[in-house]
Amino acid sequence: MNVFERFAMILTRSRKRRKMISYVIVAVIIFFGIVFGAAISILTAPAEIRSSLFYRDEGKRIDVLQENIAYYNGIPIIDSSPMSRIRTYPWPLNGTVTCQYGGRVLNGEDDFHGGIDISTGKNDPIISIADGTVERMQIDKKSYGLYLLIQHDDGFYTLSAHLAHSYVKEGERVVQGQTIGLEGGEPGVDPYPGRSTGRHLHFEVRQTANQNSRINPLILLNK
Ligand SMILES: [Zn+2]
Repeated sequence: MNVFERFAMILTRSRKRRKMISYVIVAVIIFFGIVFGAAISILTAPAEIRSSLFYRDEGKRIDVLQENIAYYNGIPIIDSSPMSRIRTYPWPLNGTVTCQYGGRVLNGEDDFHGGIDISTGKNDPIISIADGTVERMQIDKKSYGLYLLIQHDDGFYTLSAHLAHSYVKEGERVVQGQTIGLEGGEPGVDPYPGRSTGRHLHFEVRQTANQNSRINPLILLNK
C-alpha cells in the first residue's frame, strides 16, 4: 500500500476505490507539475522570449522571423523578403549606385557594406524618403562622418552618411521629399567625410535603430 492509498483509506474502505483515488491523486500531481514547470520556464526565460509570448508587436516594426537571419563575417544579415510587400519610396539622391549592399572586398579584406553608395560627384541635396523624426545627428570621424538617422512613421529607419551639411536637427520632424542634407565625403574638401574616398551618399535602411538590423535599401526604393 503506497502513501496515496493510505490517504485514500481515510475516504473509502473499498480497495478498488482506494486504488482509483490514488491514481487520481498521482494524475493531479503530474498535471500541476507540468503547469508549474511551464510557468517557471516562462518566468526564467530571457526577457525577449517572454515578451514575445504575451505581446504582439502592433506592426510598427517590420516582422522578421529569427530563422531568416543569416550571417556574414559574424554580422547578421536580415532577409528582407517580408518588407517587399510594403510600398516603395523615392530615392534619397538621384545619382549612380557606385557600391551595392552586401559583401565586398575593401583594401584587400572581406568587408560587409551595410548600405548602398549613391553618387553625383557634387554637393547635391539629399531628401528624406518618408515622413519621420530625426533620431540622431552625429559626426562619426572613423566611418560615417556627419550622418543622420531618421525614424520613419512607416516602421523603419534610414541612415544618410558622409553629409557635407545637415539641414535638420535631432528630434525634428521631417516629411517625404524634404531636403535633409547635402552630399559630401570628399576628403580635404567637404567637412566630416568620415571613411570616404570621394563624394557620395552612403544610405542605409534599418528595421530598428540598431546597426544589426540593416537590410538592402533597394528593396524599399522605386525601381
Ligand atoms: Zn557606403
